[in-house]
Amino acid sequence: MNYKQALKNPIFKIISKSAKELQLDAYVIGGFVRDYILQRGTAKDIDIVAIGSGIELAKQVAKNLPNNPKVQVFKTYGTAMLRFEDIEIEFVGARKESYNEDSRNPIVENGTLEDDQNRRDFTINALALDLSEDNYGNILDPFNGIQDLKEAIIRTPLNPDITYSDDPLRMMRAIRFATQLNFKIEEESLKSISKNKERIKIITNERIVVELNKILESSKPSIGFLLLEETGLLEYILPELTALKGIDEVEGQKHKDNFYHTLEVVDNISKNTDNLWLRWAALLHDIGKAPTKKFHKKIGWTFHGHEFKGSKMVYHLFKRLKMPLNDKMKFVQKMVYMSSRPIVLAEDMATDSAVRRLVFDAGDYVEDLMTLCEADITTKNPKKFKKYHNNFKIVRNKIIEVEERDHIRNFQPPVSGEIIMETFNLKPCREIGTIKEAIKEAILEGDIPNDFEAAYQLMLKEGEKLGLKVKK
Ligand code: ATP
Ligand code: MG
Repeated sequence: MNYKQALKNPIFKIISKSAKELQLDAYVIGGFVRDYILQRGTAKDIDIVAIGSGIELAKQVAKNLPNNPKVQVFKTYGTAMLRFEDIEIEFVGARKESYNEDSRNPIVENGTLEDDQNRRDFTINALALDLSEDNYGNILDPFNGIQDLKEAIIRTPLNPDITYSDDPLRMMRAIRFATQLNFKIEEESLKSISKNKERIKIITNERIVVELNKILESSKPSIGFLLLEETGLLEYILPELTALKGIDEVEGQKHKDNFYHTLEVVDNISKNTDNLWLRWAALLHDIGKAPTKKFHKKIGWTFHGHEFKGSKMVYHLFKRLKMPLNDKMKFVQKMVYMSSRPIVLAEDMATDSAVRRLVFDAGDYVEDLMTLCEADITTKNPKKFKKYHNNFKIVRNKIIEVEERDHIRNFQPPVSGEIIMETFNLKPCREIGTIKEAIKEAILEGDIPNDFEAAYQLMLKEGEKLGLKVKK
């Protein structure tokens, strides 16, 4: 079959012409070809393999482009990259690779197209399109990758034990592609991942996180986490999650399996948000439950303080995985810490003051928190399910109402410390805090509106209670 259609972007003709000028063969390979056949939208990155120097080819292409774009050369990898419109094009010379025990960085020699296809991770990623004038658009598919695309199978071109052991990152990639594409990992391959799981230790955390993020960004992340669990990789990467597995039973009382519950929550939230960090929050919202689990004769299973514990664990987990310890992490911590708050509101009719307090504590994140808590409803009792969702709808409306009236979000005290000091002729002291707290409480309770006049009057009253005199 011919794939000329895939190569209709004018850039391919320019690469073809440049290759001819250098008298070498060039092919489009990997993700671009795969995604074209799967009709997964237009690619933002294209990989070109040259039988010869990829760097020279990149330079020639840049010369032939009207705007002569800059070529970025990565000498150590023997690759070069240039941008054409919004596409990144990466050039590499065809290579043959051999590996050492303790590194995923291979010893590299020049090779043929076939050598290069052999070093690719999966059959569906080894497809190449010929860019030569005579065979323009011909597909080279030595491992039946097209068949595997049709059958939705992830398979390694060579013996999976060798492929995975050589570069254990491929285990993560297999699971990531299975999740993104909703493909099955072929049985031998899956066994081989279990067998080689320990080799994941030689992969840097940064690379593992790239794959985890791609799994989380998929439409059904549970596919990936179940595979990570099944193969035993999860234990090495996120032991906080495997610790949630299992159901304990004491005196006939059971708790739910918090691992499977968590995966349901992640799938639920993925239908409602693309925010990667909110998805991380869903994944981690219950991690504090393993270390706080207790059985009490009278009340059964409890996870007292698991939200606080969980939010502390988020920090250690981010640190271990070398994830950024920035606002994103703080956001995840806050979501985990507050993750049980709205549930209480969903069980009963929420009062205005309870909603005001929620908005006060969650600030700008209140909608995200609601999204998390709605996803957290995994009860199989249809009556309860409906009731919780209805109550959350009411809470969401109340948040809007309360916000319009009281502007609690990003709360600023309507009467400042300076005014209190000035009114009662005070130097900085404890009483100022007491008065401010009383005003804040009165606003959150709904006893007074959030405005200056009402707050000023309350300040005078509170001052009197404290025995303060108004300055004449
Ligand atoms: P995407 O860009 O959607 O993540 P992709 O398949 O293009 O998918 P890249 O990481 O861009 O993935 O890699 C491009 C190609 O390089 C792959 O299609 C594959 O052929 C090859 N490749 C990438 N990483 C590896 C690896 N660790 N081992 C073997 N081949 C790899
Ligand atoms: Mg790619």
